[in-house]
Amino acid sequence: MIRQDAHRIDPKRRTIIDPKKRQFAAPIYKQQDYPFRLNLYDTPPTAEITLEQFEQWAIDRLKILAEIEACSYRNKSPAETASHITPLLQKFLPLSSNTSSATGAADLRLKNERQKDHYSHFILRLAFSATEDLRRRFARAETMLFRFRFQNDDSRERRAFVESLSLDWEPVSDEERHEVNESLASSTPGLRRVDEETWYKVDWEKVPELIERRNVFLKKGKAYVPGREQLSMIMAEFTARLERSLELTSRALPRLDEDDRLTPILNHLSKNFGSADSVYTEGEGHVDGTAITASSIDSLSQHFPLCMRNLHTNLRKDNHLKHFGRLQYTLFLKGIGLSLEECILFWRQSFKGKTDDEFNSQYKYNIRHSYGDVGGDVNRRGRGYPPYSCQKILQDNNVGVGQAHGCPYRHHSVDNLVGLLQSTGVHDKEVLRGVREDVGKQRFHIACNRVFEWSHKSEIKKVKEDGTWTQADLDTIVHPNTYFKRSYLLKQLAKAPSRDT
Ligand code: SF4
Repeated sequence: MIRQDAHRIDPKRRTIIDPKKRQFAAPIYKQQDYPFRLNLYDTPPTAEITLEQFEQWAIDRLKILAEIEACSYRNKSPAETASHITPLLQKFLPLSSNTSSATGAADLRLKNERQKDHYSHFILRLAFSATEDLRRRFARAETMLFRFRFQNDDSRERRAFVESLSLDWEPVSDEERHEVNESLASSTPGLRRVDEETWYKVDWEKVPELIERRNVFLKKGKAYVPGREQLSMIMAEFTARLERSLELTSRALPRLDEDDRLTPILNHLSKNFGSADSVYTEGEGHVDGTAITASSIDSLSQHFPLCMRNLHTNLRKDNHLKHFGRLQYTLFLKGIGLSLEECILFWRQSFKGKTDDEFNSQYKYNIRHSYGDVGGDVNRRGRGYPPYSCQKILQDNNVGVGQAHGCPYRHHSVDNLVGLLQSTGVHDKEVLRGVREDVGKQRFHIACNRVFEWSHKSEIKKVKEDGTWTQADLDTIVHPNTYFKRSYLLKQLAKAPSRDT
């Protein structure tokens, strides 16, 4: 599936293949046609793609799944979730219906979209099959995505897709329906007349949603399902197939270790479910046209996320920060666009109790190192290290007492966290209750996004109303530098007169 010229391959690794593993080593090439927009992902892809496509397509899909999961964590209604992910899907994973294709060029676009959808699903299947928790989360997010697409599909295409599946649904004959007429009427809520529906018999395990709601007649292990509950049946089918496939994939995973091109990419993807730092690119946190200087940091700190605000407050209180705090904060400041010279000036002015000699000998080198001005990996010379993502900060298990780095949502006790939030002006009881709940469920970055949305709610409302930003500009924040930039821009836009005034 990966084009051979796309990356270095260790020839020794490729030639030594256990004959027992041959079914994994030599896939039979099969061209995919994609007659439908929807896909149950039964057939793995075998055509060639480049390593870059492999990674980028997976990242794009991951972005969508992470947003779907974030919506569910934030208890968004189906309508709110739909309005949130529609523009994101359009941007990262568009999937048009057949009726949108009228020309040859459109046909090619359709095929490319469907190929990307197909491949990205299977790549993430590999990435998320390793543990039970990842499999469960992946299956849940994928099912929600499939449900969304199914509901929004063109009705004729949807019918053709369902018919193509040859599902194991046995139509109920008129005679049998007549026999169980009363039972159907009493067990199926919202029914006007039994004979107005087309009925199917399916294994009861295939419709757990209906069984749970007690909305279906059961007899001899079969559920009698009206045609209008097709969505439930399809969803159950989709989830069951996916869960089964994920199990099988997890058993085949160790064989992938033979491929040193894919394993690092897959590991990186699986670590980033929910707070994917792979979507952040260096320089993204810069605000164009705004001079960021040592003297502007105090006023800009109102836009910092809690992790960086906490570092700034501690720095001002103690005129000092410990090593890891300095490192986390320096990289963040670099990420917002503070130059090396201004950064050195910032730290020099902040460490009030130190002499010039002490500052130069103990601290200056590390600041220059973070910017890539000295030392470090040759590849990073001149660039230094990228600012830390939420994922990286959250995964730090070495934040001890008396240290200010890390993420307060994860590394503070809940009471200290609430106290810290209140000190920054977050007093809303509902928000603080939500934060406690998020933190209790270890959804730290969701708590951070909750606070962001609350503290910028009037600005968000304004930019949405005047059309300056769409929901796609307001996806879940997974990087402190994105938090800063979005906060800063929102406050600037809110000051500007509305477009229609
Ligand atoms: Fe900082 Fe991310 Fe934690 Fe928010 S979730 S406080 S941005 S590390």
